[in-house]
Amino acid sequence: MQELFKSPAFDNAIAQFERACDKLAVEDWIKERLRLPQRTLIVSCPVRMDNGEIRVFTGYRVQHNLTLGPCKGGVRYHPDLDMGEVAALAMSMSWKCGLAELPFGGAKGGVSVNPMELSLPELERLTRRYTAEILPIIGPNKDIPAPDMGTNPQIMAWMMDTYSMTEGYTTPAVVTGKPVLIGGSLGREEATGFGVAYVVEDALKHIFEKSPEGLRVAIQGFGNVGTHTAIKLSEMGCIIVAVSDVYGGIYNPKGLPVPQLIELVQNRRRIQEFKEAEKITNEELLTLECDILIPAAVGRVITKENAPKLNCRLVVEAANGPTTTEADDILEERGITVIPDILANAGGLIVSYFEWVQGLQEYYWSKEMVFAELKKRMQLMFQKVLKCSKDKAVSLRMAALMLGIKQVAEAKKLRGLYP
Ligand code: GLU
Repeated sequence: MQELFKSPAFDNAIAQFERACDKLAVEDWIKERLRLPQRTLIVSCPVRMDNGEIRVFTGYRVQHNLTLGPCKGGVRYHPDLDMGEVAALAMSMSWKCGLAELPFGGAKGGVSVNPMELSLPELERLTRRYTAEILPIIGPNKDIPAPDMGTNPQIMAWMMDTYSMTEGYTTPAVVTGKPVLIGGSLGREEATGFGVAYVVEDALKHIFEKSPEGLRVAIQGFGNVGTHTAIKLSEMGCIIVAVSDVYGGIYNPKGLPVPQLIELVQNRRRIQEFKEAEKITNEELLTLECDILIPAAVGRVITKENAPKLNCRLVVEAANGPTTTEADDILEERGITVIPDILANAGGLIVSYFEWVQGLQEYYWSKEMVFAELKKRMQLMFQKVLKCSKDKAVSLRMAALMLGIKQVAEAKKLRGLYP
């Protein structure tokens, strides 16, 4: 079955899984089971375009495991998306849920599409058809989608509506990352980026014995995660020296004005339209001289080719899977600390969990309560990973993976086999 998922992303996920399992006493059958997803659904979505033509899009939903509860994971709209990548991301969600000690298994889904090329009505029709196609396997107790790259709260609202209309009653807990008015959680929009910043603060304090004040940060990707990371880190006193979008980046060693840049991207303009900075490519951004590098866009951007040239002390993975296994080894050898994705970007998942709980209870929390709970959980997770990395003399990535995998593997063992 592994051949079905063959892709650079899946191979990377398997390589990381194998390495972590080597350090854990995971029984062979559990290891074999967890190497592959529990369920994989591929769907074909015909959509009427505005010009009357019908286009057929391929969609996916991969559920990696359902051991600890319903599956949880985002929906990605990206032209290069394939099943191998979705399966890799679903597996990584399992370890993220395990590490965060949430009652969920990992999942991921999405459609191979460039959402920027669709009009709003086309996007709505595609989302509704995709939701209808995956409907048999999603639900508040089965699998709860959320936003990911290329999707947003509006898309979650259409998913929630499609599900609710089919069921015959409003079901807010079927997706997270919805607009607040229809049952979304306050703070979910900011959660991933703020969580990244909380982890940066902890890493600086407990590993480097430094404060964020005056440290130079380069962020690749200025979507939901990149912007909120930039806002929080600037508030903490960091200087954002470089940011980028898909078209390229900008650099100013004296610092960039984050609110102005956010206004630019909110108006669907390109980051390079900002004039008081040097234009750079996305590749150049990665090797800039800075203190903290934050990849917050696509996967596998830090490779064996550019890892020897990175010019920072700390890499914080706001994106999912931005570092290849070979690059990881190079960074470790060079003494560059890497805060792994399943720890660094878990804030979105954690507030999704809060949103799901609020939806089920129909009782909503204040923003203060959401951020306080988020910060508390991120700090606990960071301490847990740091301790494991010291105790076992392994990297932070290995420690995070070991903790995440152990949680799932032990739960599997306790539940035993059916029938
Ligand atoms: N897509 C986000 C992630 O990769 C959030 C998932 C969720 O909230 O379920 O963690």
